[in-house]
Amino acid sequence: MVGTTTGIPALIVHGGAGGRAPLPERSARKRGLILAVQRGAKILREGGCALDAVVAAVTVLEDDPLFNAGYGSLLTTEGRVEMDAAVMVAKRKLTRASALDERRSQPRPGSQPVDVQAGGVVLVSRVRNPILLACAVMEHTPHLLMGGPGAERLARQVGLRLCRPEQLITDRARQRWLAMMKGRADLALDGDRHGTVGAIAVDVHGNLAAATSTGGISGKLPGRIGDSAIMGAGLFADIIGAASATGAGEAILKLSLCREAVLSMNKTHPQQAAVKAIAGLYDATGAEAGVIMVNSAGRFGYAHNAHAMEVAMFNPADGVRYLLLQPLKLADGEAPAR
Ligand code: ASP
Repeated sequence: MVGTTTGIPALIVHGGAGGRAPLPERSARKRGLILAVQRGAKILREGGCALDAVVAAVTVLEDDPLFNAGYGSLLTTEGRVEMDAAVMVAKRKLTRASALDERRSQPRPGSQPVDVQAGGVVLVSRVRNPILLACAVMEHTPHLLMGGPGAERLARQVGLRLCRPEQLITDRARQRWLAMMKGRADLALDGDRHGTVGAIAVDVHGNLAAATSTGGISGKLPGRIGDSAIMGAGLFADIIGAASATGAGEAILKLSLCREAVLSMNKTHPQQAAVKAIAGLYDATGAEAGVIMVNSAGRFGYAHNAHAMEVAMFNPADGVRYLLLQPLKLADGEAPAR
């Protein structure tokens, strides 16, 4: 579990932290993550921006029924889809002075002009790709976070096709929901406690971006909003780096996990920052979570304390790679009980 790869541009995606996916789904999930990275990597290789790369990667995973985002999202206790998603981007404004600064030292927050933008949506149930609606909030409104009928109206205005909420429900999600409602926790939760998706990237221009999208947690009440669309909690991007989180949303929210993790990259390697963030979250809340991180130099970090977490990543030196991450060894040397 060492994330030390270097190189710009760089992109890393995750497919959620939680129980291990059921055996028959594992190779398809792996292919899904690799495809997502390939889509984003193509954009970055051609000199495209980090935002486009993370959105392309997350869109692939939202369309994949095996992930808990977009089509295939987990259902509320009332059997409905309610999705949260957000994007955040830190764009470097290169002036002559900041270019000189950059050659001399590592970029630090506040040390150079940076333009941070973000957009998110909560509780949406009528768009196939909530991440595209999150982009629309960022690009077409003065707001950061939208939900309800106003968000749907925006979707229509920017030309995103609306669907019926039932069209986002897969047989797999419905079966698991039924099992959960019948108290078959083994069927409902195993391998179903994860699947939230996220992507973070740095592009050749030094811009950083993060995107996270989810159907939420199994057994959630209608109206529950998790961390995934909340800037600072489920995602964060600054000029020093970007992060996307997954896992117990309530705990991630309490600790503003991604912002804390990104700011700690100011002093440490992304891998140490990721480990510290997850260990700190476990200490403070006892919850399970995972985080992926990248700094402005394209170095990766990733850690989780759940049973499983898969990531796929790209940089020019190593190409595209997939990893099934081992859980973080906690102070007592054990992974947390399920
Ligand atoms: N963090 C997500 C939420 O709480 C769920 C997950 O990542 O598995 O909505």
